[in-house]
Amino acid sequence: AKRRGRNTFQWYTDELNRKVTERVNLRHALQQAIEQKQFELHYQPQIHHSGRVAGVEALIRWHHPERGNIPPGQFISLAEDTGQIIPISEWVLETACRDAVALNATSTVPMTMAINVSPMQFQRPGFLDSLKQVLARSGLPPALLELELTEGVLMDSAEHTIQALIAIRQLGVHIALDDFGTGFSSLSYLKRLPINKLKVDRSFVNDVAVDSRDAAIVEGVVTMADKLGLEVLIEGVETAEQFHFLRTLQCDHFQGYYFARPMALSALKTYLNMPLEA
Ligand code: C2E
Ligand code: CA
Ligand code: CA
Ligand code: CA
Repeated sequence: AKRRGRNTFQWYTDELNRKVTERVNLRHALQQAIEQKQFELHYQPQIHHSGRVAGVEALIRWHHPERGNIPPGQFISLAEDTGQIIPISEWVLETACRDAVALNATSTVPMTMAINVSPMQFQRPGFLDSLKQVLARSGLPPALLELELTEGVLMDSAEHTIQALIAIRQLGVHIALDDFGTGFSSLSYLKRLPINKLKVDRSFVNDVAVDSRDAAIVEGVVTMADKLGLEVLIEGVETAEQFHFLRTLQCDHFQGYYFARPMALSALKTYLNMPLEA
């Protein structure tokens, strides 16, 4: 038993060392990625209930020269811990705004650009200024920009959070609450926060067509949001059955593989029937 204990301990430290090494490696690789611009933004269409494309969400992609594509789930939280999220986020904001201007130049209807904002990015003192600068440089009308924030950030309903949201809204920029329903949120804070939209998390959508409890939750959230004067978008719609049910609700927008996957800007232009050179 003793021996096994030691082996277990040995395995544990090896495993721990492996994880630490992997993090250090990833951190170095991330630094190179920032310097060598190994990132790309993909855009996933957001569909208005009328069927037209209302806008897109920017989703980062990392093309590592040897490891291939590394999904954001594998590096965003590390980048948060190391602070590398700051230069990455600046690049995302700049690139997405520039691409949004290009999309709107050829679109006959306004096309919104939604960007994921990390907690650290949002809480930085210089965030509002960098937002203003990027809007000025790109010429993107502020109303076409939407910042997606998660409950974790907004639940910290300290006065400075509310003030920061109000300042962003005063610029004309929109705010969406991402992954709604996954955190330990109290519904009462919804009426105090100056947000425009709720994005209902896809975990409620999976079984919406077969599980009456999920259906009741989604229906309840959509009704409540509508009564609070918020827009609602349902994420992660994958099947015709799901959409068949969801379209009966008073929901403004949908997003998910059923409509379109995230795609590179050139593919998006093709999808939207736009001239490629613009
Ligand atoms: P998110 O903001 O909730 O983004 C939605 C995720 O769901 C994306 O994964 C998207 O590709 C995926 N998705 C879209 N439709 C469907 C569907 O119908 N079914 C399923 N199963 N999945 C769907 P992705 O691109 O891997 O991004 C994962 C997360 O990484 C994002 O979750 C977001 O939290 C974060 N992220 C992505 N890009 C950025 C970024 O530029 N900045 C920051 N701070 N975070 C980002
Ligand atoms: Ca999002
Ligand atoms: Ca989400
Ligand atoms: Ca509505």
